Amino acid sequence: MKHRGLGYTLISLCLAVAAVDVALFAAFAPGSEKPGTRLIPEHVEIRAPESSSSPDSLPSSELPKPVQKPPVNVPPAPEPDTGKVAYLTFDDGPTPKTPEVLKILKDHKATATFFTVFHPESDIYYRRIADSGCQLAIHAYNHDYKPLYASVESYFADFYKMQAYLRKFTKTPVTDFRFPGGSSQTVTDKRMFCKIILETQKQGLRYFDWNVSAGDATNAKISAEYVYNNIIPAAFQYDRPVILMHERSPYTRAALPRIIEALKEKGYSFGQVKDLSETVQHRTPAYAAKVLAE
Ligand SMILES: [Zn+2]
Repeated sequence: MKHRGLGYTLISLCLAVAAVDVALFAAFAPGSEKPGTRLIPEHVEIRAPESSSSPDSLPSSELPKPVQKPPVNVPPAPEPDTGKVAYLTFDDGPTPKTPEVLKILKDHKATATFFTVFHPESDIYYRRIADSGCQLAIHAYNHDYKPLYASVESYFADFYKMQAYLRKFTKTPVTDFRFPGGSSQTVTDKRMFCKIILETQKQGLRYFDWNVSAGDATNAKISAEYVYNNIIPAAFQYDRPVILMHERSPYTRAALPRIIEALKEKGYSFGQVKDLSETVQHRTPAYAAKVLAE
């Protein structure tokens, strides 16, 4: 009994000493939290321990490893839909450079419309355009203005010849086109040309001009910078810029990746003119009707 009493006394003493130690440590240890002070920065999140075992009591080699959370498939944030669409258009092709242009478009996730001219032995390039998913449209069978615009008949003979040729590559007849020189061309008789414009409307054909031009239809020595500066920032003035380019221009091909990226940065996606509800026309059928009524 005596031993047991002594044992209790010793245990009580040890507990008392331990309590004093804890109290003293809490009061004087450097960095002790005083009432009313907050030592934890605001951005540190405090969480209840996930298990009852205290990691501090284990040697570092036995510390539980951080829980590896399984990767969560977070879908990428959707691109903000600005409603702005850029229409890249290439005239006068295809050319042996067409595949290079198609590759740039593919690499930069863009699309375009090609207003094509008949080029013998270029079947492979029309095919490439069609297979790429880009739009194959009509420019002319023969781009020579004088015989083309000589009469209403000469114009449509040329148009339907090109349409028939493109049927090799398209599932349906092509009805979207661009006049060589645009509808603002002045090389032909004005009244004759207005008759042609009105007739295209009657036949359910749609022509597309442009509101931004690369200025690359020239044999002059220009530069990629020049082409880029003609297009950017002019295209930003429109929610639906229709951009005229020529794939044969090495400057245009060199500038194309930067042009696409600049448009993307401004929130533009890329479309084909067939999707435009309203065409861009320098001279409308209404204008042609007015001229012919004079
Ligand atoms: Zn042309």
